[in-house]
Amino acid sequence: MEESAKIFVAGHRGLVGRAIVRVLAAQRFRNVVTRDRGQLDLGDEAAVAAFFAYEKPEFVVLAAARVGGIKANSDYPVEFLLENLRIQNNVITAAHTHDVRKLLFLGSSCIYPKCAPQPILEDALLTGPLEPTNDAYAIAKIAGIKLCQAYAAEYGETFISAMPTNLYGPHDNFDLTSSHVLSALLRKAHEAKARGARELVVWGTGQPRREFLHVDDMADACVFLLQNYESPDIINVGCGEDISIRQLSELICEVVGFEGELTFDLSKPDGTPRKLLDVSRINGLGWRAKIPLREGIACTYAWLREHELTPASSA
Ligand code: GDP
Repeated sequence: MEESAKIFVAGHRGLVGRAIVRVLAAQRFRNVVTRDRGQLDLGDEAAVAAFFAYEKPEFVVLAAARVGGIKANSDYPVEFLLENLRIQNNVITAAHTHDVRKLLFLGSSCIYPKCAPQPILEDALLTGPLEPTNDAYAIAKIAGIKLCQAYAAEYGETFISAMPTNLYGPHDNFDLTSSHVLSALLRKAHEAKARGARELVVWGTGQPRREFLHVDDMADACVFLLQNYESPDIINVGCGEDISIRQLSELICEVVGFEGELTFDLSKPDGTPRKLLDVSRINGLGWRAKIPLREGIACTYAWLREHELTPASSA
């Protein structure tokens, strides 16, 4: 990928898209194309086709998606299914029609079966039932992977798919009803400390285990894959280590300096018991995550403190 190559980052206002734009700029790629939602609705097939015909990007990173944590996913399955199918169908189809050289589709670790052996190998895809709290989102992402693979098989396209583990970092969603766990707990700990609260409520039992990757590491992996990966086989991106939600909560309280008690709200779902990706495929190509979890949380907390937040939604 030459430094002058025209690269379209779809979803550049999101957590991952923003980080990809930052990494591309740092690596001297000078022809990055973006569009705000007001300028281009990725759910509008004709508008997406017209945009591709006009800009003719050579590379595409499809980081646009409707995303959310366990509650948002279980409350809005229709939107998670339909919006993601629309966006990815439109962008992937237009990339084929308009001769894009390479497209990187971003999936998610929730595409794997709920009870997949851990750490989860790429081969675990479609070997068992999905976790019900996010199956609509997962089905949309699986359809995106299959569409990329179908374009590769039928038309020889280089449409590759990466599966990130749980991501966090600056510009994450900190809304307590729709965010993922790390940003939610960071905000809860910050606000609990500020009001001198004695307890912090954690959803579920605290026993599920999750793997967390800083979004700058994810973006670095995306640029690496654009340069070094051609196969239609999906590839996992993670740090290779997981921790329990209880341990994560304790770590966040330490970073924030909140000294109260943790309480566990058992009326909230745990979701999948464990989600740790096997990252030997990407490690074997020479890529590795670099940002330790404590350091990544500290940077994200510094970012959170610098930004005005609206009062917390109750959760
Ligand atoms: P998941 O990885 O798809 O299950 O999505 P989440 O990141 O939303 O949730 C991960 C785990 O953290 C689940 O077991 C949640 O119940 C738990 N959790 C604990 N406290 C919270 C919270 O305040 N918000 C969210 N979103 N999850 C929480």
